[in-house]
Amino acid sequence: MLSDTHYYFNKAADVLGLSEIVRKILLTPQRSVKVEIVIENCENELKYYTGYRVQHNNARGPMKGGLRYHPSMNEDHASALAGLMTWKTAVVDVPFGGAKGGIDCDPHTMSDKDLSLVTRLFVAQMKDVIGPMTDIPAPDMNTNAKVMSWIMDEYSKYEGFSPGVVTGKPLHLFGSEGREEATGRGVMLILREALKDRGTAFSDITVAIQGFGNVGSHAARLIAEQGARIVAVADHTGGVSNTAGLDVPALCEWVVETGGVTGFSGGTAFEGNDIITWEADVLIPAALQDVITEENANGVKAKMIVEAANAPTTPAADTLLHQRGITILPDILANAGGVTVSYFEWTQNIQQFRWEIDRINDELEKTMCKAYRSVCDMAEEKQVDLRTAAFILAIHRVGRATLARTHIESTMVP
Ligand code: NAD
Repeated sequence: MLSDTHYYFNKAADVLGLSEIVRKILLTPQRSVKVEIVIENCENELKYYTGYRVQHNNARGPMKGGLRYHPSMNEDHASALAGLMTWKTAVVDVPFGGAKGGIDCDPHTMSDKDLSLVTRLFVAQMKDVIGPMTDIPAPDMNTNAKVMSWIMDEYSKYEGFSPGVVTGKPLHLFGSEGREEATGRGVMLILREALKDRGTAFSDITVAIQGFGNVGSHAARLIAEQGARIVAVADHTGGVSNTAGLDVPALCEWVVETGGVTGFSGGTAFEGNDIITWEADVLIPAALQDVITEENANGVKAKMIVEAANAPTTPAADTLLHQRGITILPDILANAGGVTVSYFEWTQNIQQFRWEIDRINDELEKTMCKAYRSVCDMAEEKQVDLRTAAFILAIHRVGRATLARTHIESTMVP
């Protein structure tokens, strides 16, 4: 996965003619921390986990990035995702750098009590390297507002009242209006702009979505509200389809009740992995990384892919999809709504001042539309695909800021 993000970075760096030394400076994480977490769980068994935090770059502001709880979590994933955060915050031009972390645990098999203990032990060991002006975690796969509350509470025990140490908190605990749905809203906005450019209406499109958690469910709801038909959804339990369009609010209720889309009576069941090649105009991967691969890319039927998940497309698949003329709205643009509203949450925490929902949504819309336009303009100027254009924009911003802090001429980044 790390090699994938390096590949995309280098493709853009080649267009910029970046020197080897500048590439090394920009690719290498500033710090990587690994901690051991041992608990006695509710069944009186000893459990061993490893926690990670990779801090990639802070030239443009405190480092920012989610915490992922998944058995596959490792340093390589954290590193790749930390880099993506640096490029993402730069694409939407919020004053943050990039970081990422997580724990190799599976919350689906743990009690809340055990999960809270694991989270608190992680924070106790990371407290010296995170902080409101240093590195600010946020939710990612399998972490949510509840986990963020535990982080804020544990960190505040050591450092005093610190709501700004983490974003994605509940509204009643210094969270922000609009944060929970922000990534999904950003996905809808980017899709809206791309459709507008192609003269297509939401009512003319069908959409297939992989992942129905925070990002996938809100994206589905907001896109359906615009008039599109969500014809298939898959998650870790399986898939459900309906050519007439799924009733998204009803599906949301079902998933809250049962934990997955399987068994939903408003559609037909299918094997979840088939979602990538589903018959739909737009495919939205909103779950795991590396799901669109060399093996299934030629089977993709969508004309447009909106990368709501981080790193869902491998470089080999990316090349095949471009050869087939499929438009990819890349992750560092398409899913940046979350970090944008995280920035608004952090701002409110720092200022001890609350914004109303209309202000949040207006500012999010402005930020996403401006970033979309800048990426399209760069693609036009350099005659490259949208992902390469987004990386060029980000490398320019991060590279200039990084070198400006050193004695090296910042013009070494064109
Ligand atoms: P989540 O835990 O809320 O939801 C994850 C979803 O993925 C669930 O529906 C789960 O069932 C599904 N899933 C897991 N394994 C699967 C599999 N093998 N096949 C199909 N579906 C599977 O996580 P989330 O916060 O919605 O994050 C989803 C993706 O979006 C991740 O890649 C994350 O990095 C990215 N992302 C999240 C945010 C955010 O604000 N939460 C921001 C930017 C990017």
